[in-house]
Amino acid sequence: MKKLKKTRRSRRTRKDDYDHDDEVDGPVIDESQLSAKELLGLQQAEERLKRDCIYRLKKQPRSYPSAKYACKLCDVLIESVAFAHKHIKEKRHKKSIKEKQEEQMLSTLPPPTASQIKAIGVAIENVVQEFGLSNEDLEKRLNIKTVMEDVLHQKLPECSLRLYGSSCSGFGFKTSDINIDIQFPASMSQPDVLLIVQESLQNSESFIEVDADFHTRIPVLVCREKQRSLLSLCVFK
Ligand SMILES: [Zn+2]
Repeated sequence: MKKLKKTRRSRRTRKDDYDHDDEVDGPVIDESQLSAKELLGLQQAEERLKRDCIYRLKKQPRSYPSAKYACKLCDVLIESVAFAHKHIKEKRHKKSIKEKQEEQMLSTLPPPTASQIKAIGVAIENVVQEFGLSNEDLEKRLNIKTVMEDVLHQKLPECSLRLYGSSCSGFGFKTSDINIDIQFPASMSQPDVLLIVQESLQNSESFIEVDADFHTRIPVLVCREKQRSLLSLCVFK
């Protein structure tokens, strides 16, 4: 088997790939040399191979004169029916044929009926109700931010906190982290602010499991709000 050159493929449609190569005259398989029984056997074998997108070449490519078949899925040339059977069992071919079958299945699916669309709508609505963030959840998150802000204001009166991400857009789960970032005056340096915030949260009764990672690209503090057990992720920009 031989992989065709990429440049050839890009210039032509896949179907034509093997048919216009520099070709050898004469039939790819000389059927006149076969008995009626052999010919029938060959035809049946080739019919089977077509289901795997392997076709007999119309002409033999000069660059690979012993090639008799081509797998249109994998763009490979194949020397015989036996090698084609071997090729069918290869992992990459199996993967390609599976993808093709899935594509065919999806493209022939009938459009959904009105009742199916309605059922999916109801199912999504239920998931949103059960797991999605309600207005009440968003309010709680805003409240947590305010509690944290009050804690920090004792030592950092000029800093403010800002919710972002799902707590802001509402597009998240009840269990989603709360993302908060801190804004501080230009006169202060980020490491100083971070250390004070870390200390303040550790000493606060409202927040537990305070953990810091200041070595990431964006330094981060992670903690949990005690009452509601929600994870608060503070990102400092
Ligand atoms: Zn293949």
